[in-house]
Amino acid sequence: MPKRGNIQVAVRLRPTAAFSEALSVTDAGVTVNLGHSKSDSSSFLDNQQKVYTFNFDRVMKDAPQQDVYESCARPTVESVVSGFNGTVFCYGQTGAGKTYTMTGDTSMSYLQRGVVPRAIIDLFRLLNERPGTIATVRVSYLEIYNEQLYDLLSPNEMTGHLQIQDDSSGNTVVRGLTMPVCATEEECMHYLFQGDTTRVIAEHQMNNASSRSHCIFTIHVEQRHNTSVAEKVVMSKLHLVDLAGSERVTKTKSDGKILQEANYINKSLTFLEQVVVALSTKNRDHIPYRQSKLTNVLRDSLGGNSKTSMIANIHGETAHLDETVSTLRFAERVMCV
Ligand code: ADP
Ligand code: MG
Repeated sequence: MPKRGNIQVAVRLRPTAAFSEALSVTDAGVTVNLGHSKSDSSSFLDNQQKVYTFNFDRVMKDAPQQDVYESCARPTVESVVSGFNGTVFCYGQTGAGKTYTMTGDTSMSYLQRGVVPRAIIDLFRLLNERPGTIATVRVSYLEIYNEQLYDLLSPNEMTGHLQIQDDSSGNTVVRGLTMPVCATEEECMHYLFQGDTTRVIAEHQMNNASSRSHCIFTIHVEQRHNTSVAEKVVMSKLHLVDLAGSERVTKTKSDGKILQEANYINKSLTFLEQVVVALSTKNRDHIPYRQSKLTNVLRDSLGGNSKTSMIANIHGETAHLDETVSTLRFAERVMCV
């Protein structure tokens, strides 16, 4: 697979028995033929064009979790072990497989585990293979809902006390966020489960709000190398992001609360795209990080030496074609970076 620099874009199709005739895929492309589609009245068809082809770094259909991890996340994990920051994020409409891709089914079969548990295992393995280096691993689990930050590892804490700041070396830190040290991969898994449990409880209480919030599991790595001259400390971090559902909400069918949530989500996803696109331009003086909590938290882990991987999750059914095209378009704009 040819490397295009520091951002990789992949598409993952959710398995379906009713794969739309309008879609055809290759290893690195998706073609949408709207002539096949019955949803001809949908909004994006104002435009005369009927066949769209989108090209990506890879397209994954029926890919097992291990393959998704290896092609979309391992290079970022390796780069974090080498001392650079990295981000892996999943984008797509609710139900398309973002959480399955990131977390997977952690309770049952190992085969169903997603990117996060695999990254934890791989990270500890790689760190243990580095002689002469003492590594300290910490984790944090942050949720962003309606532009508010919540600590998934400290659910009883009063909300509203978390603040995004820059430290003296220009790194982004979230003040007040719990960051427990993990001596082993089991401890990391424990915090992942704990945060996921909090997420699920909140989802019930807030009427499925988790599909309307961004969740960021972060692994912070500190490596101390003893050279003959002095001790060298290298800090890096890996953000594993399960974004809020990208679906557009119709005004007619929704109440005010849902519209407000949708408004926050649309804005933060648009700002994420703007940041990623701005990073590719020559004039990098003004990257609009400050516009949303999401881009502000990820500020030091997108662009520059950071390795970013986006997985766009799509449905293969005709009923979802509208949102699928919208997701592919977003991914294509990130792809052009
Ligand atoms: P999202 O987080 O994007 O809303 P989910 O990850 O919750 O979507 O996926 C919706 C449902 O589809 C879940 O029951 C999930 O287990 C299942 N699913 C998604 N992707 C896959 C896949 N690649 N293989 C098997 N099941 C999947
Ligand atoms: Mg989800």
